[in-house]
Amino acid sequence: MWVLLRDAPLPLWRPVSRDLSPVLAFSTRRGGVSLPPYDQLNLGRSSSDRPEAVAENRRRVLQALGLDRASLVTAGQVHGTTVRRAERPGHIPDCDALITDVPGLALAVTTADCMSLLLVAPGAVAAAHSGWRGTANGIPVATLEALCDRSASPAAGVAVHFGPCIRGCCYEVGPTVAARFPAEAIRDFEGPMMLDLPTAARLQLAAAGVTQIHDTGACTACEPHWYYSHRRDRGACGRHWAVAALTNGAEV
Ligand SMILES: [Zn+2]
Repeated sequence: MWVLLRDAPLPLWRPVSRDLSPVLAFSTRRGGVSLPPYDQLNLGRSSSDRPEAVAENRRRVLQALGLDRASLVTAGQVHGTTVRRAERPGHIPDCDALITDVPGLALAVTTADCMSLLLVAPGAVAAAHSGWRGTANGIPVATLEALCDRSASPAAGVAVHFGPCIRGCCYEVGPTVAARFPAEAIRDFEGPMMLDLPTAARLQLAAAGVTQIHDTGACTACEPHWYYSHRRDRGACGRHWAVAALTNGAEV
């Protein structure tokens, strides 16, 4: 379902088949202008990176996706479970997921280990930021429910896409965090407990009736040349984007 366009000037994860709108993408760290340790395609404003570099990186991604620079919608991202509906461009604080049914609006959430999820229903899309707290507290399903309400679609009519994130191969957690998740999401071979966020989200979404789940399969901590990792880089790193936008039918 997903392919990383490795040889493009701006390498992005894109759906293999883009016959139908909406526009969906996950970014990597390549193709931008930021300098170390934010090199290259830092899309987050929360770091000490130069704001003009982040602005140029954002411009490049939106241009590559055929989206209007003025159409961007971002979320405050506070590791909560609040989902907000976007009706116009801008920054929406105090939420970790955005939904919209307005064509042309570009929803974007930033991550650097946390999961990003893109959800697609007939006539509506969503983007969610889901770290361990958000996942444990159910933001994948909260986003699904908001999207189903908005689109009048059953969960079975929603496709969910998982972006690059830290996974069970690399995400060591303590017993307090591990206890918040079902055993299937924890890899514990008599060593450290390893949390697999996509498995946790997959279990929640399947229990809620989702049947279409597509995963890039990429681990941010495993591949330093492709991804930022907040854990691996000890906080000094850039941020990726997950982007979803309804179009008016024109394909990019
Ligand atoms: Zn890994």
